Amino acid sequence: MARESDPRTPGVPNLGHIRLTSHSGGLHAPTITWGAPTAAARGPVIGTTSTRAHRNVIGTHSGSYSVYRALAVAAGALSREHRADLTNTSPTDAIGPYPQWADPMAIVSLDPWGAAVADAFPDEIAAGIDIRPTIAITKAHVILPEIADAIAKGRLVPDGEILLDSGAALVTKAAVEPVWYLPGVADRFGCSEAELRRVLFEETGGMYPELVTRADLSVFLPPIGGQTVYIFGDARDLADPTVELTARVHDECNGSDVFGSDICTCRPYLTHAIEECILGTQRGGVGLVAYSRKEGRALGEVTKFLVYNARKRQAGGDTADQYFARTECVAGVQDMRFQELMPDILHWFGIRKIHRLVSMSNMKYDAITGSGIEVGERVNIPDDLVPADARVEIDAKMAAGYFTPGPVPDADQLRNVKGRGL
Ligand SMILES: [Zn+2]
Repeated sequence: MARESDPRTPGVPNLGHIRLTSHSGGLHAPTITWGAPTAAARGPVIGTTSTRAHRNVIGTHSGSYSVYRALAVAAGALSREHRADLTNTSPTDAIGPYPQWADPMAIVSLDPWGAAVADAFPDEIAAGIDIRPTIAITKAHVILPEIADAIAKGRLVPDGEILLDSGAALVTKAAVEPVWYLPGVADRFGCSEAELRRVLFEETGGMYPELVTRADLSVFLPPIGGQTVYIFGDARDLADPTVELTARVHDECNGSDVFGSDICTCRPYLTHAIEECILGTQRGGVGLVAYSRKEGRALGEVTKFLVYNARKRQAGGDTADQYFARTECVAGVQDMRFQELMPDILHWFGIRKIHRLVSMSNMKYDAITGSGIEVGERVNIPDDLVPADARVEIDAKMAAGYFTPGPVPDADQLRNVKGRGL
């Protein structure tokens, strides 16, 4: 929809007066009772930017892509009044509700009812309220060279249902946008809600004034990446602790996951987990890979590449004993992933037991078990899948507390584990 230009800024659509978010609108919007046992009692999450009086959250939909949406409006390509036509978009698999959905502190970083808004709030949508899904669930075939290789080497055998002769594995996949219940997020991080709100406001350069001016709004749609979940087998089996569950929670690493960079074990561990998920499902179990957009330990790729240079240029070269120190020098911390929110996705699926956790991370293990989910066996990455240049990382992590069925490297060994130069 084309708009007239403002004469002061030719070419830019005239959007009218700026309405500040801090004190107006939303006061008569439907309320959110986080953790209420039904969708109707909980109330819809409304992050619309078109009718301000309907809003009952801070921020807007689509996570980090909300900024691209703003660009599309600024460019005149997208009408602010556009409403999604949700015809035929409903989930391919029904998830829940599970008892965890009705505990306000069990799930605090996603909306458990986010996939079902069209079914849960038909009257509100018919009345013109812009309620959008924050979760979408679909089906896919995934084809990976590592899985084809496992078939060629006889480790995997196609069964025609879970794994096809073509090498394609059949999955259900869900995309999940972040929806934060601020009192619950503060509780996970051991700070007060007021502290959390103030620091979120200040550390985003004052992006969301409502964080500090609208204490009546408890739900925040943060402008960050979300998660994607791949399920092998029947998604309903995830909630049944008697069905063997193989699971990996994986944090994004674009360099390895997509481009095959050999400085870390991310992609080999991810594809090993997918192989284990297929094997487990063929045994009558179910598999799950939850992939979080937390690039480079949530430090981002610029910081990550700076650390690579600092590691490889330091006196003595890239050694395992300096691995965490170099990250901390650049970033100020070793890790910003803070696994405290990660178990939410597991509770959304009603998971109570993970029989085989394909992860060596003590931080992930502690977060999962600390949230009340039982973990059986921990599955390490096989040694022959660790790239030569990634030995520095995996040995440093094992020395720092990562699970290993073998010996933990000592200080002398860490000094001698050396990566490639630049
Ligand atoms: Zn990596």
